[in-house]
Amino acid sequence: MTDWGSLVRPSLLGLEPYRPGPSISELKELHGVDDIAKLNWNEGLFGPLPGALDAVVAELERAWMYPEQAYSDLREAVAVWLGTTPERIVPAHGIQSLIAAVAHVFVRDGDRVVVPQPTYGLYAQVCAAAGARVERVPASELRIDLDELVQAARRVEARLIWVCDPNNPTGSLVERDEWEDFLAALPEGTVVVVDEAYGEYADPSRRVCRERDVEAGRPVVVLRTFSKIFGLAGLRLGYAVADPELAAFFDVVQEPFNVNRAALAAGRACLARPELIEERRRESASARALLAALLEEAGMEPLPSEANFILVDVGVDDAALADALVRRGLLVRSGSEFGLDGYVRVTVGPPPLMVRAAAELSTAREGLLAGKSVR
Ligand code: PMP
Repeated sequence: MTDWGSLVRPSLLGLEPYRPGPSISELKELHGVDDIAKLNWNEGLFGPLPGALDAVVAELERAWMYPEQAYSDLREAVAVWLGTTPERIVPAHGIQSLIAAVAHVFVRDGDRVVVPQPTYGLYAQVCAAAGARVERVPASELRIDLDELVQAARRVEARLIWVCDPNNPTGSLVERDEWEDFLAALPEGTVVVVDEAYGEYADPSRRVCRERDVEAGRPVVVLRTFSKIFGLAGLRLGYAVADPELAAFFDVVQEPFNVNRAALAAGRACLARPELIEERRRESASARALLAALLEEAGMEPLPSEANFILVDVGVDDAALADALVRRGLLVRSGSEFGLDGYVRVTVGPPPLMVRAAAELSTAREGLLAGKSVR
């Protein structure tokens, strides 16, 4: 028998693969429910932006052709939208693939990488697989502590610092002055990778505009996606904003045809009507405010969020609550998966769904508080 463990990269040993959990059809069967509302993965529950699907259908005629490898149309469209230049845009099949590319470009065996805690789990996972040693920096009052990140980076001479803004799972946003202080204090030789998967949901008057940092030659890379506000998670499309010299290194490590034609067409169609993105942001912000108000009314403590989800202190066993909810056809993310016992994370979607979610959460929670099992 081949001993594969002795043949693979040693840094892979002991790491667990990402496990998405049971499929919707498995859950329906398991719990005997007809319908499941997915409020657990922060997908764009308002659906694809108008125009994206027609563009995909029209493009499928050309499915036999490889995508145009330079992706110049999408690069150009993103650059115009962001007010920057196309050579700073690096398309990819989602942020997940860019996280792998970042690790490939920067991480050498034994490098130190600083990651806030809690945050999106893939940064630590992918960097550890590439041979990095991960230094975790706990949040302070559930906000990313940029001061502590810089200090940790100095202490361990970090190659990379990861920042998720707005942060998943807390929904907190980095303030502009905090960001400026952080950049000023950054040690030489450390690169900051900022995952802005939820950036478009944030109040534009508060968001940090990091394209300008990239243009100013700061050691900053920004990762963005069409999976969230654009509602295209299933098509897999994202991009990095990076210095042109660094962008060329990304092109070296990424697969030549890593973005498909349908995704490129959908992305271009969305960017052709930027007013719809702003409309979707407002719609999402108002649904988020509605959910927060309903949760608060029901005696729970939602955290302020600038993303398309809310982390809420439910004051009961979060895993038991999530379990009671799935039996009622509602999937939420249990906080204990992030080390946040007593919290759940709920994705924001259309108002009727928010009303239902708040009511179900409240009933299930009351059931747990009363000590009876909720079925
Ligand atoms: N970054 C964060 C913070 C996320 O929460 C997610 C998805 N849950 C991703 C990246 C994945 O993005 P993509 O679909 O572009 O790979």
